[in-house]
Amino acid sequence: MRLEESRAVFTVPNRFFAEWIAERYSKLLNEALNREMGRSLDAAFEVSPEQVQAKAAVIQPPPPKSRPAGINLNAAYTFESFVVGPCNELAHAACQAVADAPGGQYNPLMIFGGSGLGKTHLVSAVANRLVNREPSYRVHYTSSEAYSNELIQAVRFDGIQTFRDKYRRVDSLIIEDIQFLSGRERTQEEFFHTFDALFQAGRQIVLTSDKLPRDIPGLASRLRTRFEWGLLADLQTPDTETKLAILQRKATEKGVVLSRQVAAYLAGQPESSIRVLEGYLNRLMAVSRLRGAEVSLELARQVLGPLANEHLVGVEDVLRVVSAHYGVRPADLKSSRKSRDISRPRQVAMFLARRLTNASFPEIGLALGGKDHSTVVKGVQRVEKLLVEDPELADTVRAVENAIRQGKQSD
Ligand code: ADP
Ligand code: MG
Repeated sequence: MRLEESRAVFTVPNRFFAEWIAERYSKLLNEALNREMGRSLDAAFEVSPEQVQAKAAVIQPPPPKSRPAGINLNAAYTFESFVVGPCNELAHAACQAVADAPGGQYNPLMIFGGSGLGKTHLVSAVANRLVNREPSYRVHYTSSEAYSNELIQAVRFDGIQTFRDKYRRVDSLIIEDIQFLSGRERTQEEFFHTFDALFQAGRQIVLTSDKLPRDIPGLASRLRTRFEWGLLADLQTPDTETKLAILQRKATEKGVVLSRQVAAYLAGQPESSIRVLEGYLNRLMAVSRLRGAEVSLELARQVLGPLANEHLVGVEDVLRVVSAHYGVRPADLKSSRKSRDISRPRQVAMFLARRLTNASFPEIGLALGGKDHSTVVKGVQRVEKLLVEDPELADTVRAVENAIRQGKQSD
């Protein structure tokens, strides 16, 4: 192997060999080179001069499988790798129906949902299935932003007719994140024509958005009504069971075994986006690999503690929800009254403040009207003990904890 400025050149016996390796192993080799050499190098292959008379041919890796230009379609986003739960079953079923019978009854199909809930995964699964079933089938996968940029480019350079022809030739058009059409009048006008041409020809249109069409400011009403013609299927925040299943699935894909405990800890983080959850998992795995430590609950706590706390709750949030739950006033919790109906909620507040916030014992004491550190420690210990002995209290604490977390998610 010879190192050049930006390449690592391997000598191979013949041209066939070169092509064969380039096709199958370029990506792996490039990754390994980057990792080992600490700089970006492309693997290249040349035929050994002894083997052939001809000048050494350096064969570049073949260009990626030709797909129509657009944004990149992730081949790993398939129906098989998508976990179905109550939060996404309608959208999932609709996407499957469209992939199996494009241009049918759900046209256009609009997948709507918050960031990181699986819109891209689902519509990519549609595109992948369509292309894999029938390679000559023309799926164009893009985003409204890329569409808009391409249009601007076309107006300036290539000519608008080329652009129109291209879009009107596709069999299925998938456009992501149409909320970015907001306020872009020229793009909207062009898209209106694209839409109608395709729709009238019975071609499938799939759209994603993080807003309902009627909530996209500056969206032309003729587009809004068209977006509402077909089926609008939404993705909701996943419930804990679905989160668990997704985490397990992602871990398996990455070759890691996730204990039920660790999965539950991750799923229990006050975070509803699957993208963020997956980020937690990646972070956890990276640290585990770096330290050569097992993916344990202990490690998860260490790694995610500070992250999780970012979203969390202050002591005042805890006091607010605890007092509402027990029907007392926050001022009562801060008072020095010792009666049981005040002291118990106060202890629960101490316990939950300790558990859900960053606050230290003295800080919690301060927020509770200037109690000292040892009072807070005792309160927390008292609740810890009761959680084991008193299932009713345990239920209460769990309910209050959930209410606090949810309050935090929705604000
Ligand atoms: P969006 O486009 O809605 O912002 P993505 O489709 O990019 O969200 O999803 C974010 C991440 O979560 C992706 O890695 C995706 O694979 C994963 N994901 C979301 N929903 C599921 C699911 N039901 N099963 C498996 N993975 C999912
Ligand atoms: Mg997306």
